[in-house]
Amino acid sequence: MNRLANFCAGPASMPTAVLEKAQSELLNWRGTGASVMEISHRSADYIEIATKAEQDLRKLMNIGDDYAVLFLQGGAALQFSAIPLNLLNGGTADYLTTGTWSEKAYKEAKRYEALGLGRVNLVASGDGMDVPAVETWQLSEQASYFHYCPNETIHGVQIFETPKVNAPIVADFSSCILSEPINVNDFGVIYAGAQKNIGPAGLTLVIIRKDLLEQASAWCPNIMNYKNQLENDSMLNTPSTYAWYLSGLVFEWLLDNGGVEAIAKTNRAKAELLYRTIDESDFYSNKVNPKHRSIMNVPFQLANTELDKLFLDESKKAGLLNLKGHRVVGGMRASIYNAITLEQVQSLTEFMKAFEQKHG
Ligand SMILES: *Cc1c(COP(=O)(O)O)cnc(C)c1O
Repeated sequence: MNRLANFCAGPASMPTAVLEKAQSELLNWRGTGASVMEISHRSADYIEIATKAEQDLRKLMNIGDDYAVLFLQGGAALQFSAIPLNLLNGGTADYLTTGTWSEKAYKEAKRYEALGLGRVNLVASGDGMDVPAVETWQLSEQASYFHYCPNETIHGVQIFETPKVNAPIVADFSSCILSEPINVNDFGVIYAGAQKNIGPAGLTLVIIRKDLLEQASAWCPNIMNYKNQLENDSMLNTPSTYAWYLSGLVFEWLLDNGGVEAIAKTNRAKAELLYRTIDESDFYSNKVNPKHRSIMNVPFQLANTELDKLFLDESKKAGLLNLKGHRVVGGMRASIYNAITLEQVQSLTEFMKAFEQKHG
């Protein structure tokens, strides 16, 4: 059976070439007689896999030596706690919210304010369709950090320009990491759960400027302490070894295919085609301010919501999987991460046009 086009928001589609490579190495990794998932994270073979993955990620994102790269567990959601515990330090943290995920991060940080770890300030709050105008942002004078989410996975709201603020910027890149080139030096912390645009669930990347490693709260659990994790090569306890290995294969695949610049071109083309198809019809709509439309997650509504179920049934029959939108937004959502090809998006837009012709 052929692999189908899977538009799931996460865990999401993986590059077929990566899964084939993993399959060929599954039972016996490079003649060692064991699977990667069966060997110690302290073994020389595994250290080689882990180190190579970090080196490749550094190459892909052009990460300098003044940044640490951590391969952690707990998902992006655990970072909602780890960030204030490591960085708040009795000061004030600024949070911009533009959708579900940055709101969750803000609410979690607020709990640490209640515990007396510092202040947490809401800079501005978006409506899930647009980003509040910069002039309305209530920034603190000297924040410990500024937190935002460059790509709201559920609402499909993306901020393409890094905000210009004085504080170190902490950004939840879970659904847009490696989709386009970014300047890592603009950020204090970049974090991302792997299961959207990198690899399988269970691995969380944290890229942190090393001068920010000195201000963790005494309440910060050892396992969440970035400095501790760095000093232990992200192996304070057993890491997600297999997810780390698979993510390494994805990094190799990206490097073999021209890196982030090359994939960004394809990503732009995919998003452009899908939004054009939506905009050219009265049957489909997307309500996000065109300047902030996500190139990774494309929510869209049918004018007649009574056709939603039929759309989902027929798209599934056509080999287009997981197009149901998040309940917060309703309608449909196509997540078109790096592993989704332009041809798969073309199949989707052709299906959408045919469906409109039949039912519009
Ligand atoms: C999926 C997602 C999360 C939550 O990730 P988990 O790994 O499930 O904790 C957080 N932020 C963003 C932007 C996401 O897309």
